Amino acid sequence: MAKKVKIIYSPKCLEYYSPEHPESPDRVRNSYEFLKKRGYEFVELSPCTKEDALLVHSKEHFGRVKSGNFYDADTPSLPNIFEYVVVSVEAAIKAARLCSKNVFTFSLMRPPGHHAGKDSIEGFCYFNNLAIAVEKVMREKKFSRAAIVDIDCHHGNGTQDIFYGRKNVLYVSLHQIGIYPGSGYESSLNCINYPLLSGTGEEEYLEKFNSALEKIKVFNPELIAVSAGFDTYKKDPLCSLKLEVGSYRIIGKKLKQINLPLFAVLEGGYSEDLPQCIYSFLEGLKGKQ
Ligand SMILES: [Zn+2]
Repeated sequence: MAKKVKIIYSPKCLEYYSPEHPESPDRVRNSYEFLKKRGYEFVELSPCTKEDALLVHSKEHFGRVKSGNFYDADTPSLPNIFEYVVVSVEAAIKAARLCSKNVFTFSLMRPPGHHAGKDSIEGFCYFNNLAIAVEKVMREKKFSRAAIVDIDCHHGNGTQDIFYGRKNVLYVSLHQIGIYPGSGYESSLNCINYPLLSGTGEEEYLEKFNSALEKIKVFNPELIAVSAGFDTYKKDPLCSLKLEVGSYRIIGKKLKQINLPLFAVLEGGYSEDLPQCIYSFLEGLKGKQ
């Protein structure tokens, strides 16, 4: 059966930027316009509970982002950054709350989150949007077991840090090695990592992805949460895997076939074809050929 996909979005996330930073507002603006033209349904945000970040981050971390009193070259302390960060968190929570077996959700927001650990601001990430959303809906008892699938080209070291050792959360990541953040070479406890060499193309990637899906089925989750990065694309300026636009449709379709409630959040993806990559993924999730 085909699924419906709803996109969570707020133009608020376009209001901040850092000159020449690859994580630019244009990434999301262009993707929004592309998807809007293709008839996707967008959901507005409700006001957020700013303290939700404390579900997975330390008080010190929360205080640093709120005050803006931190320094990381990749993850700049921009004016009012806290306001933007909490909107991205809220969009992920909304996506997690709204998703069901028949309606999948996608948070089209920035900043991304999967490098933000319990106590670390890094890799363009301040709060871990997806981790907070997973924790939130599990505490609300909407779901009791969640599998996180991280398809961003970088290892989601922050998400692994937050959920490491948790019995009711499985973290599975496919990522390029030899680049930032330098982790994810091995699997341990509930965190299963598929390290990929520079130049890995669609065929080998999908082989590993199928293996990851088998692990997820064995875990038997009630919810699938996807860290959806598109920097695995062959033209991405920051990474060097070789996926095609059409690869994301196959990935989406395979995730759809698990037939569980699913939400996804945008992580990386820095090429000018990001809108097409996202569209391909969402069409796959819907189950279109
Ligand atoms: Zn990335």
